[in-house]
Amino acid sequence: MNFIQTRGIDASRPATVTFSEAILAPIASFGGLYIPENLPELGNEFLVKHLNSSYKVLAKDMLNRFEIDIDSEVIDEALALYDEFDDKNNPVPVVKVKENLYIAELYHGPTRAFKDMALQPFGVVLSSIAQKRDENYLILAATSGDTGPAALETFKNRANVQVACLYPDGGTSDVQRLQMVTEDAKNVKVIGIHGVFDDAQNALKSLLASDEFNAALKAKNISLSAANSVNFGRIIFQIIYHIHSYLELVRQEGITMGEKVYLNVPSGNFGNALGAYYASKMCVPVEKIIISSNENNVLTKLIKTGKYDLRDCEVVGTTAPAMDILKSSNIERILFDMFGPERTRELMQNLEKENFYALNADELTQLQINFDADFCNGHEGKMYIKDTFENDKYLMDPHTATCMKSYETCCDAKIKTIAYSTAEWTKFSPVIANALSGEIDVEDIEALESISKMAQLQIPEVVKGLFSKEVTQNTLVDKEDIQKEILNFI
Ligand SMILES: *Cc1c(COP(=O)(O)O)cnc(C)c1O
Repeated sequence: MNFIQTRGIDASRPATVTFSEAILAPIASFGGLYIPENLPELGNEFLVKHLNSSYKVLAKDMLNRFEIDIDSEVIDEALALYDEFDDKNNPVPVVKVKENLYIAELYHGPTRAFKDMALQPFGVVLSSIAQKRDENYLILAATSGDTGPAALETFKNRANVQVACLYPDGGTSDVQRLQMVTEDAKNVKVIGIHGVFDDAQNALKSLLASDEFNAALKAKNISLSAANSVNFGRIIFQIIYHIHSYLELVRQEGITMGEKVYLNVPSGNFGNALGAYYASKMCVPVEKIIISSNENNVLTKLIKTGKYDLRDCEVVGTTAPAMDILKSSNIERILFDMFGPERTRELMQNLEKENFYALNADELTQLQINFDADFCNGHEGKMYIKDTFENDKYLMDPHTATCMKSYETCCDAKIKTIAYSTAEWTKFSPVIANALSGEIDVEDIEALESISKMAQLQIPEVVKGLFSKEVTQNTLVDKEDIQKEILNFI
């Protein structure tokens, strides 16, 4: 299958590209994104066929229907990484939490957050394309905490790929920082910067635009690529677990085949939610996709009012920091799917120029047929964490907790909900300890131990071991010195 472009085509690129090409250079004409020319129509037949399939068999068949230009052995190697998740037979357990509420746990991979779901297989795919073409790629990542560790984990020691990962010093949790700075593979470089996440992100953007930087890479025969969720190579792996979770509900006799469900997704850059949207178009019977946010609630406003408004709007730091985002990139793919390339280009150019766009009444209606949304502040989030732990014996992280509010405000109680848990409690333990017992200002290690006692849960070895692992990545620089550090590295 070929890939087309959300903002139509300019003269700078071919009208369609292959999957490999869309992965290697994910930015399309007019600054748009790549999307599949048409989504495979899988239908009820596909669900019935895979009712008793393993995750990998389901995944392989779905990927085959996309007819992507990746060798079958490479796909097998990529999917085999799900065998390393906690339960080899089921990388995404779905747990019944309340009468009509099920939680699909996306965090059972090596870095304990949902980024592994897509980045684990993506690393194999990208590296294999680079090897096949005999090209070398540098992946630049700016992280507020979860993408960095997951990107390092997937690309470490892979051929033809190097990673430089920027994080704001002091802006991540201890666990997240240790996951990065204890990484000792030769092909990865971790750079702490004095500043906040936006500084890291802006530094990355100016590097991408820097002639000097690009010339230096070219001289070394290295091309740049991106591992964030504008890359369709990540999105494609994020459709699978929505189909899997639906089938799990049927298997657990929570629903009968064909019954509609809500999919409730804690959202930031909208990759996870986009996967849900594609899954619903391809085969999963969905009542609505519910978009859950924290105080950075631009998506709630978009879905409630049709206005994407960033004027006088600044990112605020929250207890669910992986969702502290204002420009949610994958909304663009929804705009394209609903309104086509001309309108998408118009809206996105408005956003870039005026920090604002407004859908018309018909467009808003169409958006609301598919989506509903609400946001949850940090205080409410902690109440939901405590309440769900005490009443339902289920421990959740602050990102997942945002779904509890929208579950109450957006959902018809007769219809079952699948909410997605995007991080393990171990990644955000100080907030959770505070929610459960009021402890304040505790370090990660103390919080981990106290929650472990309270909830009778083991701290996984991959997390516990971090605190005694040698720190090998000591680079800490000012913004101005990032370019020099990266050039030294490559
Ligand atoms: C990345 C992330 C999200 C947001 O997911 P998107 O696909 O960007 O919407 C939510 N929760 C956690 C824990 C994350 O790491």
